Amino acid sequence: MTNLVIGAGLIGITSAYELLKRGQSVTLLEECEGPALGTSFANAGMLTPSMSDPWNSPGVYKYLVKSLFNPSASMRLRLHAIPSLIGWGSKFLRYSSKHYFQAALKDNYNLTCYSLRKTQEIAEKYDLQYCRDTNGTLSIFNTHEDFSVKESLYQSLQKSGLKCSILSPSEIISLVPSLAPIHSKLYKGIHYYQDESGDAYLFCKELLAKYLAAGGQIKYGISVKSLAVSRNKIIGVNTQSEFIPATQVVVASGANSPAILKSVNVNLDVKPAKGYSLTLNVDGVSGLPSLPVLNDAMNVVITPLGDRLRIVGTAEFAGFDLSIDNARIMQLYEMFEFMYPEIASQVDRESALPWAGLRPMSCDGKPFIGACKIKGLYINSGQGPLGWTLAMGSANILADIILGSPTEIDAKPFSMLRSDRDISV
Ligand SMILES: Cc1cc2nc3c(=O)[nH]c(=O)nc-3n(C[C@H](O)[C@H](O)[C@H](O)COP(=O)(O)OP(=O)(O)OC[C@H]3O[C@@H](n4cnc5c(N)ncnc54)[C@H](O)[C@@H]3O)c2cc1C
Repeated sequence: MTNLVIGAGLIGITSAYELLKRGQSVTLLEECEGPALGTSFANAGMLTPSMSDPWNSPGVYKYLVKSLFNPSASMRLRLHAIPSLIGWGSKFLRYSSKHYFQAALKDNYNLTCYSLRKTQEIAEKYDLQYCRDTNGTLSIFNTHEDFSVKESLYQSLQKSGLKCSILSPSEIISLVPSLAPIHSKLYKGIHYYQDESGDAYLFCKELLAKYLAAGGQIKYGISVKSLAVSRNKIIGVNTQSEFIPATQVVVASGANSPAILKSVNVNLDVKPAKGYSLTLNVDGVSGLPSLPVLNDAMNVVITPLGDRLRIVGTAEFAGFDLSIDNARIMQLYEMFEFMYPEIASQVDRESALPWAGLRPMSCDGKPFIGACKIKGLYINSGQGPLGWTLAMGSANILADIILGSPTEIDAKPFSMLRSDRDISV
């Protein structure tokens, strides 16, 4: 079988690797001139079963409506994007009911745990170097109200097996001494010690090298314009300059997946949600944290990645806009200065790398993995804010489905053909 995988981000590279491992002939097609230069380039680096909750949680609509009038809201709906969000948006809101939210939370948790296990296995098998850190993640809360929202969430995840510790302000400072300047502002923390972190871009490069060494192919500078189908069966793809034949095609093109699938009338309910990051060189800086810390109220996370520190925050439903808004970058600096004033005073801002990426958000908070109505056409997309966490698990499920092998966890909740009837809570 000749397999083409469209997109060399986290999802495409892991999918291509898993297909190759199962004896398939695979070529990755990527429109950029290198791997993982899209959303997988500078994300927050967290692998977090603890964050399996979909963003469309009960009450999200009130937050989004208010955000229209608040330019600094951490999750923001932009007025100009509303027309492009109408169909998807109504589903996004419908799936924010308590019933759907709880079901999606459970499904995502199963997949995040499976995926983290698969990531750990491959990291250890090849000794992959991607600034991997196994100290977990820490969420900090400034008020009882903020904490109580997360308390009910982790209590429902605990029933599925999540392990974590609740920390007092003094225990938070023992774990991360550089938070001492904000000791008086801390209410409580949750240490999710089974989470991990690492640089997704470096992981992609390392895994791609293993894939190429094992005989996988990649072509850069190839932009897929449409899919080619004959008698309801995939026969290849049309690029900017040629037709490339294939017996199987995997669309793993992040936020751009729906546009590619539209060429054969397959509707994928995925829309972009923009996020920002700021990566700072902290070589020689003292007092660095040893794990990612999420300030829940501010919706910002600061992740150590070797000799770099990455500050990440914000989500905007603003269409396909990758421009960098300086006000958002200043907001990240302010949050950094608030959380780690002593580290911030040592950092050279000249070295900062501001970045924006588009999370591929599905309408119901779960990825789409598997077959669609066209024979030979497969989808692995819509991992949204959890694409790094979910990449290895999604790729294993996809490859098993393509090969007709049993999947290790239930893949039905992530099927393209899932319906409301499949939700069991
Ligand atoms: C600010 C931010 C922070 C995040 N933090 C985390 C985190 O801490 N943990 C976590 O688990 N996830 C996180 N995520 C989410 C995660 O980064 C994404 O879910 C993931 O990168 C999506 O991977 P992907 O391969 O689907 O998309 P991409 O990385 O965008 O890859 C898609 C690839 O397809 C290529 N492509 C598109 N169209 C075509 C075409 N027509 N022809 C050929 N190639 C094409 C693109 O060039 C791109 O390389 C974060 C995202 C953002 C934006």
